[in-house]
Amino acid sequence: MASTALFTKTISLSKYGIKNATVQYQLDPQELHQICVENGQGKTTASGALAINTGKFTGRSPKDRFIVIDELTRDEVWWGDINIPFDKLKFNRLREKIQTYLSDKKLFVRDAFACADPRYRLGIRVINEHAWSNLFAHNMFLRPSKEDLENFKEDWLILNAPGFKANPEIDGTRQENFAIISFEEKTILIGGTGYTGEIKKGIFSVLNFLLPTQKSTLPMHCSANVGENGETAIFFGLSGTGKTTLSADPSRKLIGDDEHGWTPDNTIFNFEGGCYAKVINLSEEQEPDIFGAIQKGALLENVSVAENQEVDYTNTSITQNTRVSYPIHHINNIQIPSTGKKPTNIFFLTADAFGVLPPISKLTPGQAAYHFISGYTAKIAGTEAGITEPIPSFSACFGAPFMPLHPTRYAEMLIAKMQETGVNVWLINTGWTGGPYGIGKRMALKYTRAMINAALDNKLGEINHEDYHIHSVFGVAQPRTCPGVPDSVLSPRQTWNNDEGYYKTAHKLATAFKANFKKYEAYASEAILNGQPPLG
Ligand code: ATP
Ligand code: MN
Repeated sequence: MASTALFTKTISLSKYGIKNATVQYQLDPQELHQICVENGQGKTTASGALAINTGKFTGRSPKDRFIVIDELTRDEVWWGDINIPFDKLKFNRLREKIQTYLSDKKLFVRDAFACADPRYRLGIRVINEHAWSNLFAHNMFLRPSKEDLENFKEDWLILNAPGFKANPEIDGTRQENFAIISFEEKTILIGGTGYTGEIKKGIFSVLNFLLPTQKSTLPMHCSANVGENGETAIFFGLSGTGKTTLSADPSRKLIGDDEHGWTPDNTIFNFEGGCYAKVINLSEEQEPDIFGAIQKGALLENVSVAENQEVDYTNTSITQNTRVSYPIHHINNIQIPSTGKKPTNIFFLTADAFGVLPPISKLTPGQAAYHFISGYTAKIAGTEAGITEPIPSFSACFGAPFMPLHPTRYAEMLIAKMQETGVNVWLINTGWTGGPYGIGKRMALKYTRAMINAALDNKLGEINHEDYHIHSVFGVAQPRTCPGVPDSVLSPRQTWNNDEGYYKTAHKLATAFKANFKKYEAYASEAILNGQPPLG
């Protein structure tokens, strides 16, 4: 364990009210890995990655995500059940309790950055109770050089104490676990949950507030990559729709897999320094880039590991949401630094479990705005006793849980960007085909990839009757042919073999779109309203 010598720096935590802690500062990934194996928190897997369990929580807990209501946030934040207000005094008291909890412990401290564009750089200090959480921070944030560390300026602090449990009655939380952001204190408190995603999505929420209000920059829940000719593509989508999967394309350089900013001078930059991929049913054949990234240094979460150290990616006994984090350089073809020029194509990814949206369609500017504000995907209801019915799920800007401002603030910025750049916007259904969930099946990944590549390579023709069919229910332009994809796959109606069932279900979804959009109608222009499904 000699390599830490590079970063030797004595860190005192007393300024945070944490007393007598043993500080392990800026350990390298192999040291953190070793510590986890030695203390029984982790296992080394066959590929060299570390596997850990995050505990009771294997996903984020959006109902326990709070924002402190203060001078900075009071009139800016869109308060409600997404951005839940938290009292300032209670925040300070809870913080003191966490400081006491962390005192006298062996802690892991890491300095890192967010924002790959140096003009936006945010210094982040993370204080973790567990070594594996610190490895996550190493993998996911931008890693500072030795020089960076010497002059490190800490802008934000994350206190991450999974073992600390709040007392809701006294502390003002909903239950034991919480993630609370204070913009005045520039601090995030995370307690009662070991789910690592809270750490990265905490900083994402911070940037989603700061960038639009202070830098006229649009933050986006999207992945991004760039082609050989320097053309940037971005992929918006809610969880599980394919941002990480589809942005990892060996023929394009990866910019980032989840969080990006779009600057006034039309640069796209990654907020992060790593990827956080779902690994459920991962196969080397289908997703070679992600599979190959799961090597030494990568951190697997909540997977099952056999005696022989092999990971069984089909095993859902702990959770469906099995994950891996790794530094972005574990992917072979990456853009360095993680920035791109103005996008030429935007993809809205949706996993439509009703199986009625076309697998690819082109959107007019009005439709693009409408779909961005709607943020549609579908959830599958509990699989109890085989009863399965998709539930439409709308999340504005394809990321409402992370957006502190009113959705129209982000939508207005994106609409202005679309107008200014003339970017193509596509709606991609990575969900079901041939029928709804239970009858149809998930769209083949190879077809989705072929459709995206055809759009990127300008192989989908022009918007005219010969090349495109206008969908009668959704009004979107559906290409008639696409290289590498059978024509019949492009028409969801044809894949059903049941016109009546198809149209009934399509109407049902269109009606859900309209019901959801009601709350935005007052803000929407004529063009945006014209982007809604013509039927339903
Ligand atoms: P999150 O925001 O939670 O990170 P994400 O948008 O990055 O979610 P992915 O991690 O890419 O989502 O998950 C997509 C999942 O769906 C993967 O497990 C992938 O293998 C699977 N999948 C199956 N068929 C397709 C398809 N046609 N297109 C994209 N993904 C598909
Ligand atoms: Mn992802």
